Amino acid sequence: MTAPPSALPFDFTDARGRVSVRPAWTRAEIFATVEALLGEWESTLPADKNARVVIKPNLNNDLVALTGNCADLRVLTALIEALRRRGYTRITVADGSNVGIERRNISSFRRLRIDRLAARSGVHTVDLNRDDGRRIVLHAGAEPLVANTVLDADFLISVPKIKTHAEAGLSCAMKNWVGICVGQDKRHMHQDLGRNIFALSEVVQADLILVDGLVGMEGNGPGDGSPTRVGLLVMADDPFLNDCVVARLVGMPVVRVPYLQHALTAGVVSQALLDRIDREVPQVATIQLAPARSRLAVLSESPKLVWLKKAVRPIVSQPAVAELAYRANITQDVYGLEDDSLRVAARNPSACGSCRKCEDFCPTGLRVEEIGVKLDLPDCVQCLYCWWVCPNEALTLSGEAGAMQRQIDRYKGLIEAL
Ligand code: SF4
Ligand code: SF4
Repeated sequence: MTAPPSALPFDFTDARGRVSVRPAWTRAEIFATVEALLGEWESTLPADKNARVVIKPNLNNDLVALTGNCADLRVLTALIEALRRRGYTRITVADGSNVGIERRNISSFRRLRIDRLAARSGVHTVDLNRDDGRRIVLHAGAEPLVANTVLDADFLISVPKIKTHAEAGLSCAMKNWVGICVGQDKRHMHQDLGRNIFALSEVVQADLILVDGLVGMEGNGPGDGSPTRVGLLVMADDPFLNDCVVARLVGMPVVRVPYLQHALTAGVVSQALLDRIDREVPQVATIQLAPARSRLAVLSESPKLVWLKKAVRPIVSQPAVAELAYRANITQDVYGLEDDSLRVAARNPSACGSCRKCEDFCPTGLRVEEIGVKLDLPDCVQCLYCWWVCPNEALTLSGEAGAMQRQIDRYKGLIEAL
């Protein structure tokens, strides 16, 4: 049974830590909520304003945030501005996208407009796939390089999503941490994925977690699921407690999340805690679980068959073969190599219904009267969120769609309907 919105906000506290759950959806709500949450958690922040603060969002892929795949630029902007107001001067946004993105040398920072947002906000970016790292010993022979930018940070803020994951069940704070492994070393995690996700969160700890639970992804996540409105921001100081609470919030059974099962077996969380979460935490959404993976998909991820995967890569990388593999449910991702050059060109006042949805989704706070007035407004980072959510085709774009065309065909209608 899904709880009514009146069940929010609430806090859950346990010996492991604390989780604060707040409703939010529009830009104004997101900015006010992030500011209020940081105020409540002020004592957690570093005393030294020159501390190296590293924000590690989930930039798993090049899918626009409103698909539910990646961190929402509104949340990142709100967090950066709230930190800046508190005087922090050395803020870095860092992540390493998935191995398919990395192997093709695609910049998710560029495609997701993280680079433009960072330039506007005056913060640094680091692609962890290109970072130096240090080896961390995990399980089943896994010994991935973990990025120095993360290991050397003074204060680490994890910004995960809430999404289904075909292999891991759920992706939230613990799964977000896979992105701190450098480049193809993420493959080490698959030598025993559930156990290694659990182990990595034990070895490298985030100081603070801010879950972007605005648009989640359900179904065939993380690469091909559907966006779903969850409408939450969650702040926590413990990834294990956070993920148990989030699983309950969206109706994900812990038994479907192997890394949480490992946390239970290891005694990091107890059955008594899970029972208490079930009793006290409201279920506010029902996320559609990931479908069972095809036998070929499971085989393709087997660490024993990495040699075969490498041998056939030149063939399966051909666009037509990649499309076939996608349609046969063997892979979730089809990567296009051409960056888009799309920009918001104009707003047609006669088509505009004045719903102001574009404003609610604009990370930089542009008003509907400003959006589309001219190309390349100084405060516009060209994220296109306004265009994605506009229900009336009132905004037009200029430029080439490139790899974005596939996303548009798959997701435009779903995002408009959020
Ligand atoms: S979302 Fe579209 S229809 Fe609504 S105010 Fe903005 S431009 Fe107009
Ligand atoms: S005006 Fe549109 S494209 Fe520009 S920053 Fe705002 S939402 Fe993004």
